[in-house]
Amino acid sequence: MPGFELFGDLERQEVHDVLDNGVLMRYGFDGMRKGHWKAKELETQLKATFNVNHAQLVSSGTAAVSVALASAGVGAGDEVIMPTFTFVASFEAVMMLGAIPVLVDIDETLTLDPKAVEAAMSPNTKAVMVVQMCGSMGHMDALRDICSKYDLIFIEDACQAIGGTYKGKALGSVADLGCFSFDFVKTITCGEGGAVITNNKEYYLNADHYSDHGHDHVGNDRGAETHPFLGYNYRISELNAAVGLAQIRRLPEFIALQKRNYTILRSALETIPEVRFREVPEGGEESYAFLNFFLPNLEIARNVSEAFKSNDIDACFHYYDNNWHYIRKWNHLKELKSLFPISEEVKEGLKYLKTKSFTQSDAIIGRNLSCLIKLSWTEEEAEARAQKMAKLIKHSLGV
Ligand SMILES: *Cc1c(COP(=O)(O)O)cnc(C)c1O
Repeated sequence: MPGFELFGDLERQEVHDVLDNGVLMRYGFDGMRKGHWKAKELETQLKATFNVNHAQLVSSGTAAVSVALASAGVGAGDEVIMPTFTFVASFEAVMMLGAIPVLVDIDETLTLDPKAVEAAMSPNTKAVMVVQMCGSMGHMDALRDICSKYDLIFIEDACQAIGGTYKGKALGSVADLGCFSFDFVKTITCGEGGAVITNNKEYYLNADHYSDHGHDHVGNDRGAETHPFLGYNYRISELNAAVGLAQIRRLPEFIALQKRNYTILRSALETIPEVRFREVPEGGEESYAFLNFFLPNLEIARNVSEAFKSNDIDACFHYYDNNWHYIRKWNHLKELKSLFPISEEVKEGLKYLKTKSFTQSDAIIGRNLSCLIKLSWTEEEAEARAQKMAKLIKHSLGV
């Protein structure tokens, strides 16, 4: 997945353009910038790449989720349904707005189980956020139907799935609003950065204003711009956008490499009948950023994970025992350890976390291993890794 593996002259050239004129900010300074508008160009490129009407760059993927929700009017006391398997950023971004993350079970797509989403509905539900984890997607039609039925905003956190598609549409462009991250370890990197994409003009204008202190961006004198509503600073810098501009042009090359390396690993593991792969909804194509598979039970998954670690198979994650991506170890959330006071509404809204168990998610994540697909592996390296992985799995299975 990480685009940084192939950082090179194309990225350096774009950054040099910015260093040359010294305009490190994305807005204003028209005279000094010698025609270089890296953030604007990257937004144009994002619209073309994902076939959407609007794209707003921001400072991170976390910011993208907050800005997307704010743009659609989600805030204090609103409930946002999201999966138990995600990244801490997802609930942080929701709580930043005073909204309440409602975590529900996943299915074998590794994201929202539509049945669990419907069961979690309450009068305060405002949005459903599917998190397209590890390069693939949820049951998008079923989730869309639920959102239509209950009149909810549908948001896609596609931070880990850039380049994947569902029925010919880019992941991120399927829901009402989509979010990307361009942090250092994502498929396309800006160093730090993110984006909101949408076909809804009102949401886009809200995102454009909100992410820059509520500036209306009318005219070319920042000091004279008005503020139709309150905002915040989630701007990306020109330097970061410049890196992303070089990288986004390379997306087809990156996806092709991921697909080649993924296919080599998968082919080797497919020969083992006890190994099953994550479900990809019909009409979906993964971005191939990760290879996800299931072993027969938790104990075997733990053993294989340990065997991989002690035999130099790096970047294969058993998220059941991991602090970043799965609810089991998020004690700071369950105990609401906040630096500043949290509203009564949110405290009340998160009480369920103290007692609720997620047996369905536990059973799925407990058996899952998720292997990062690197861009820099040669075919020979991928092949050698695949054979070694298959051997270690067979050994753990005793076959
Ligand atoms: C990386 C990531 C984010 C946050 O992105 P940052 O740019 O690091 O803030 C959000 N959601 C998911 C699923 C991610 O993987």
